[in-house]
Amino acid sequence: MIRRMLGGAALLTMAVAAPALAGEAALWHGGTIITMDGDQPQTVAAVVERDGRIAFAGTEAEARKLAGPAAVDHDLKGATMLPGFVDAHSHFAMAMQVAGGIDLGSARVPVTDHASLIAAVREGIAARKFQPGAWITVWNYNDANFADRRHITRAELDAAFPDVKLIVMHVSGHGLVANSAALAAAGITDATPTPEGGVMTRDAAGRLTGLIFERAMLLMRQALPQPSAAQQLVAFDAVQRYYTHFGYTHAQDGATQLPDLLFFRSPAAREHLRIDLVALPYATMFDWVVAHPEVRFGVYDGHLKLAGIKATLDGSPQARTAWFTRDYALGAPDGTKPWHGQPVMSEAEYGAIAKAATARGLQLFVHANGDAAIDAAIRTFDSLGIKAGDNRRPVVIHSQFMRPDQIAAYARIGVSPAYFTNHTYYFADTHRLNFPKEVVDFISPMQASRAAGLVVSNHSDFPVTGLDPFVQLWSSMARTSQTGVVSGADQRLTAYQGLQALTTGPAFQVFEEDRKGRLKAGLLADFVVLDKNPLATPLDQIRSIKVLETVKEGQTVFKKG
Ligand SMILES: [Zn+2]
Repeated sequence: MIRRMLGGAALLTMAVAAPALAGEAALWHGGTIITMDGDQPQTVAAVVERDGRIAFAGTEAEARKLAGPAAVDHDLKGATMLPGFVDAHSHFAMAMQVAGGIDLGSARVPVTDHASLIAAVREGIAARKFQPGAWITVWNYNDANFADRRHITRAELDAAFPDVKLIVMHVSGHGLVANSAALAAAGITDATPTPEGGVMTRDAAGRLTGLIFERAMLLMRQALPQPSAAQQLVAFDAVQRYYTHFGYTHAQDGATQLPDLLFFRSPAAREHLRIDLVALPYATMFDWVVAHPEVRFGVYDGHLKLAGIKATLDGSPQARTAWFTRDYALGAPDGTKPWHGQPVMSEAEYGAIAKAATARGLQLFVHANGDAAIDAAIRTFDSLGIKAGDNRRPVVIHSQFMRPDQIAAYARIGVSPAYFTNHTYYFADTHRLNFPKEVVDFISPMQASRAAGLVVSNHSDFPVTGLDPFVQLWSSMARTSQTGVVSGADQRLTAYQGLQALTTGPAFQVFEEDRKGRLKAGLLADFVVLDKNPLATPLDQIRSIKVLETVKEGQTVFKKG
C-alpha cells in the first residue's frame, strides 16, 4: 500500500502555486467552510488569506470588501474546506525507509501464509533489482494474517534468500525477523545475550529463530547502512507528497534518531520542506541534545520544529510486547506463558531522562500501550510533581489499554493522550484473543477522556497503519473491527469530535492551538479541500472522502490532478 502510493507520488512533481505577492489577498468561498472553532460545528461563507495567514473568516460580503478587487479568487465550487490536518503521531523518517524497501501491504497477492510472504519478497527483489549481498527491509509483516499465527523463521528465510541480508519488519514497528546473513552482518550470534528490555526467541537447542523484538532490534538497526543524501532527498520528497495528498499541513516524526535529525536540519531538506514537520528527538539522543544547547525546542526554524523528548516504555499489544498488569491469553511472541509483556526501558532510566528534560523545560512525549506502562508514565510524572495547572502537557502516545482510573490521573497531571482508534479496526480481533471484552472495549477511550476534560488527538502511527485521515475519522466513529465486531460503542465519536482529534487536539498537544487547527483570523492559512463534507456523509462512506487540495500558508502544496 505504502510503496504503491509512494511509487505513484514519485512520478509526479509537487504542485506549488506561484507565490503570492506580499500583501496580495486570496479569497476562498463557494463551498462549505467548517472552521473547527468551538465545540459545535460552525461554518463561514468565506475566508481571506494574506501573507500566509487567515485575515478574515466570515460573510462573503465582508470578505470581498476586505480582500479587494485584485484578490486571487478560489471558488470551492461546492467542495468542503477545513483547517489542514495536524498529524498527532506518525513516523516520517521511518516512512522514508519504507519507500526504499519491499512493502507486503502492496503485494500483488495478499500475504496470508509463509509461502505467499516468500513469493511477495521474491517479486519485490526482482522488481527492485536488488543484487546479492544487498540489505533488504521488508515492511508490513503481520503474523496475525497467518491461519496458524506462527512467525516465519530465520531457517525459512535462509532457504529462500540465502545471499541477501533480509530483515522482515513486524507491522507494529517493534520487532523483526532476520535471516542468517543479516544476523551475521549485525554481529548477532546464538551466543549473543538478549539485551534487557528485548526479546530474542530461540529454539529448543538455543539457536536464534531470527525473531527479535524491542530493544534487541537496536543491535540490528546499528548495522543497517545509511542511505546517501541524494537517496534520502528523493524519499523525503515522496513521503512529503504522500502526507500532503492526505491533507496534512503538519507532519510528525515521532521518534527521531540523530541521523534523521541531521538530515532534517540539512539545507537541502529544509529547502524541500513545504509543510510543518515536528520532530521528537528520541531518548537515545538526549546526550546529544544536552551537548547542543544551540538546538532549540518549541520554535520553528523554517518549517522544522523540535517539540520534546520521546521515550518508549513498552512494546505493542498486537505484537504481544506491550506491558500489562494482566497476562496475554496467547502468551509471549514465542508462546511462553505466563506473559504480561515487559518494560522496554526501566522506570528508573525513564525517570532520569524525564527529570533532566523537564529541568530544561522540554515537553515529554512517551509511548505507552499496556496499562502497566501507562501506570509507569503516571508514576514518573507524579514523581516530577507535574500537575494540570503547570500546563506542561505531557503526551502519552497511544495510551491504548487505559483503565478508567488512569483517566482521572491524566486529568490531575494534565496529560493529553494521543489515541489510536485504528486499533479498533486493524487489531481489535487480535486483542480479543488475549484480553476480556471490557478491556478491549476501553481501548482509545475517547468519550470517557473527553468527559474528564482531557484534550485528545487521534493518529495513524504511519507506517504502522495507513496515513489516510478518513480511516482514522471512520475508526473513531465506528470502532468496528475487520470482522465487524464493535469495541466500546459508548466511546464512539461524532464526525465533528473525530475531526477535532485530527485538527485542534493535535495542535494543542504541541502548543500550537493559537497557530493552527482552526479557521480563524490570525491563524496560519493551512487548509484542506475535500470532495465531501464529513459532517454530512453517512458513516459507511466516510472512508471514501478524498482530498482535492492542500494549502500550506496560502500556497497550494497538493492538488488532485
Ligand atoms: Zn509510533
